[in-house]
Amino acid sequence: MQNFEIIRPGNLDQALLAIEDSSGVPLAGGTDLLVRIKNKLLSPEKIVDLSGINELAAIEEAGDYIVMGAMATHQQVVESPITSKYLPLLAQGCATVGSPQIRNAGTLGGNIMNASPAADSIPPLVALGARVILNSAAQKREMVLDDFITGPGRTQILPGELLTEVVVKKMRPGERFKYKKLGQRKALAISIAGCAVKMEYDPAAGRCSNPRVAFGSVSPVVKRSSELERLLAASKLDDRGIQEIAARAREFCSPISDIRASAEYRREMCASLLFEVLSELIN
Ligand SMILES: Cc1cc2nc3c(=O)[nH]c(=O)nc-3n(C[C@H](O)[C@H](O)[C@H](O)COP(=O)(O)OP(=O)(O)OC[C@H]3O[C@@H](n4cnc5c(N)ncnc54)[C@H](O)[C@@H]3O)c2cc1C
Repeated sequence: MQNFEIIRPGNLDQALLAIEDSSGVPLAGGTDLLVRIKNKLLSPEKIVDLSGINELAAIEEAGDYIVMGAMATHQQVVESPITSKYLPLLAQGCATVGSPQIRNAGTLGGNIMNASPAADSIPPLVALGARVILNSAAQKREMVLDDFITGPGRTQILPGELLTEVVVKKMRPGERFKYKKLGQRKALAISIAGCAVKMEYDPAAGRCSNPRVAFGSVSPVVKRSSELERLLAASKLDDRGIQEIAARAREFCSPISDIRASAEYRREMCASLLFEVLSELIN
C-alpha cells in the first residue's frame, strides 16, 4: 500500500478547506476508492476522510423534497422511514447494492461520484429527477443529476468541490414504481442491465400518467428514455400494449459489450426487464 496523508475534518467547512487546493481526494465509504488505490489505478498524496462529518449523513424532509446528505449509506436509505415513505423507488435501488457490508459502508455520494453506468442508485435517482448540490469554499451550486454525470467515471464536479447533498421531490402517494436489476448472481453482482420505472396508473382506464423510465448499464451513462415515456403515456397498458412498448426498448438503448455481457444480450435484456417491470406495475 502506498503512503498518503489522511486528513479527518470534523465539519464541512474544514473539509472544503482541505480539498481547496485540489490535491486532496475525498474518501466516503472507500468501497470504490480503496479498491482503485489497491489496484494502483490511483495514487493520491492526500486523502480527505469525510466520515466524521455528521451533517453530510442526514436524510431529511424539506417541504415537498427529501434532502439526503452525500454520506448517507445505501443501508441508511433502505432503512430510513423518510426514504421508505417518500422515495421507495430509491430505497429499492439501494437495497440491491452489493452485500450488507457494502451497503453499510458505501454511500449515495460515492455511488454518484463513481459515475458507473451500473450504479444501482442512479437509475432510480434519474427517474425521480434528482438534483445534486455541490459545495466549494467559494460557492454552492445545484445541477440536475442527468447533466452532472457526463460519462463512465466522469462528472461535472470542479476542482475544490464536494458533492454535499442529493435533493429529490417526494413521490406522490399511490405512484407505482419498480427498480429491477439483472446480474450474474443474486448478491454481490454488478448489474448487466437495470431498469427503474415510476408512474401514476389508473387500472380502470388501463392508462398511466407522468411515467419515468431510466436504464442502467446499457449506455455510457444512466439514461432516461423520453421516447418510451411518451409511448407509455399514449398507450393502453394491457399485456399486448406493454409487450409492444418493451420491444421498442431495443431501439432506445446503446449498450456496449464487456466482460459481463454482449451488447446484443443487453439490448434484449432491456426489453425483457422493461416488460417484467411493466407487468408487475399494472397487475
Ligand atoms: C464487492 C463490491 C460490490 C459492489 N456492488 C455494487 C453494486 O451492486 N451496485 C453498485 O451500484 N455499486 C456496487 N459497488 C460499488 C460501490 O460500493 C458503490 O459505488 C458505493 O456507493 C461507493 O460509495 P463509497 O462511499 O464507498 O465511495 P468511495 O469509494 O469512498 O468514493 C468513490 C469516489 O467518489 C469520490 N467521492 C466520494 N464521496 C464524495 C463526495 N461527497 N464529493 C466528491 N467526491 C466524492 C471519491 O473520491 C471516489 O472517487 C460494489 C463495490 C464492491 C467493492
